[in-house]
Amino acid sequence: MLYKRSSALFQEAQQVIPGGVNSPVRAFKAVGGTPIFAEKAKGAYLYDADGNKLLDYINSWGPMILGHAHPKVVDAVVEMAQKGTSFGMPTEIETEIAALAVSMVPNIEKIRFVNSGTEACMSAVRLARGFTGKDKIIKFAGCYHGHSDSFLIQAGSGAVTFGTPNSPGVTQGTAKDTLLAMYNDINNVAKIIAENKNEIACIIIEPVAGNMGCIPPAEGFLQALRKLCDDNNILLVFDEVMTGFRLAKGGVQELYGVDADIVTFGKVIGGGLPVGAFAAREEIMNHLAPLGPVYQAGTLSGNPLAMAAGLAMLTELNQNAEIFDSLAQKTEYLHKGLSKVMIENNVAHTINRVGSMISIHFSETPVTDFETAANANGENFKTFFHGMLREGIYIAPSAFETWFLCDALTYKDLDKTIDAAATVAKQLK
Ligand SMILES: *Cc1c(COP(=O)(O)O)cnc(C)c1O
Repeated sequence: MLYKRSSALFQEAQQVIPGGVNSPVRAFKAVGGTPIFAEKAKGAYLYDADGNKLLDYINSWGPMILGHAHPKVVDAVVEMAQKGTSFGMPTEIETEIAALAVSMVPNIEKIRFVNSGTEACMSAVRLARGFTGKDKIIKFAGCYHGHSDSFLIQAGSGAVTFGTPNSPGVTQGTAKDTLLAMYNDINNVAKIIAENKNEIACIIIEPVAGNMGCIPPAEGFLQALRKLCDDNNILLVFDEVMTGFRLAKGGVQELYGVDADIVTFGKVIGGGLPVGAFAAREEIMNHLAPLGPVYQAGTLSGNPLAMAAGLAMLTELNQNAEIFDSLAQKTEYLHKGLSKVMIENNVAHTINRVGSMISIHFSETPVTDFETAANANGENFKTFFHGMLREGIYIAPSAFETWFLCDALTYKDLDKTIDAAATVAKQLK
């Protein structure tokens, strides 16, 4: 495949956009090479600026669970655009999508819409602080909750004490209120809580992690977190920006039967338009302005085009809930096929999978947290990524990202993917 036009567009973009991209992971830094510029997409396939056709396992990083340019979503947006694109006034469709979301997800009574997952998580933490009157939060190494200051924190020298910022511009003052814990290590969480008695407002977690590759919660881990939160008057925040309306109608709360206090959404809920949301029981949500003292606002929040796309998406999922099972079966099929070709070629690997999320780490040991993910063979991943791309298969350009399957993928597409992996596996060490 040739990327002449993409390369030229990337050159031009770099003149006027930092790094040529509006979100860093698009730049292919982790795997090298030039990012591919998209032209259009339909169903399971992307078409780039050079006219190449790629089978897409990124799906806009999660939102396109039905496949690209789904007619119901597109029609809803076009129809709404003709009536106007923003009013700055309440609209009926906001109530419609709110009622539908609340009916699909367990344990939430009210929901507020924002414009991104970042905004949703940032607002959820402010609400948790306002509700509990406490300042500190616990987050897990390797979990991503958007780019707001409180979340850009990593551990200082292995010891899990006060976080240190991992981006310039995040102040020490902010960092000191974010405590870092190890994913899937409940004793570690208990210790941090004991050391910060009555200071922790919330624990925020990706209840199935997707930002260090796919990492499922260990058996009983989420239940144990729930208990720790109950015993210590801490709110449990499930960041379901990736998993919400993807792993089940009701997300991880439904799939694992664990209740969160606040849930955040993004990606699928917007049907491919910029939408985030956060939700909780009424007692908590009523702390938000204009009812309560916790301030949160947005000029374009609840934007009619975004709500139209989101409502079309959620309606389709709600009416066809068999999609979740069918996606999980396709993902299992892919898992088995990929495992088989890796084993045949003696390539050390771990594949993690939950529902329609799957990732491969070139690791000899199980991948259960950030450390084990980071210890995998990065060179093999680069070779795998570029090899798959040559075969027309577009997977995320980093081992720290999950692949997403969409409903438009056929078993023929999956076989094509497995065949491609068989070719590429021969080049792996
Ligand atoms: C993508 C993501 C976010 C951030 O959402 P944006 O819309 O990119 O701001 C937050 N949390 C999780 C788990 C995500 O996957």
